[in-house]
Amino acid sequence: MSIFIDKNVCNGCGQMKETLCERICPGDLLFRNAEHKAEIRSQSDCWTCGACVKACPVQAIDLKLPSQILKSNVSLRAQCKKQYTVWEIRNENGTKEEFIIPATTGNGVE
Ligand code: SF4
Ligand code: SF4
Repeated sequence: MSIFIDKNVCNGCGQMKETLCERICPGDLLFRNAEHKAEIRSQSDCWTCGACVKACPVQAIDLKLPSQILKSNVSLRAQCKKQYTVWEIRNENGTKEEFIIPATTGNGVE
């Protein structure tokens, strides 16, 4: 699976020269299109690392979990704060759950 970019939420990172998702993607897969929205070049080349999901300041990107991990249609969105990340799980039936993960374990391991 891959990511889904909600074009109604993405603001193209305003006037930034390079968008935050574009900057962080290790595969150089993301770019800002002519409509000033983020777009992915190739879904099949995305390895679902989640970096862009965490980098997006307006939660415009959903991480679609691979079927090897979950059989149902579940996606994740992240809201990063300085000390923690709020992960929102969107279930197939429309329900949502939130999990708060500290930014660090305290052992220097993130
Ligand atoms: S999930 Fe990772 S590899 Fe896929 S588009 Fe986002 S940053 Fe790039
Ligand atoms: S980081 Fe978010 S708001 Fe900025 S271009 Fe990417 S998807 Fe759009």
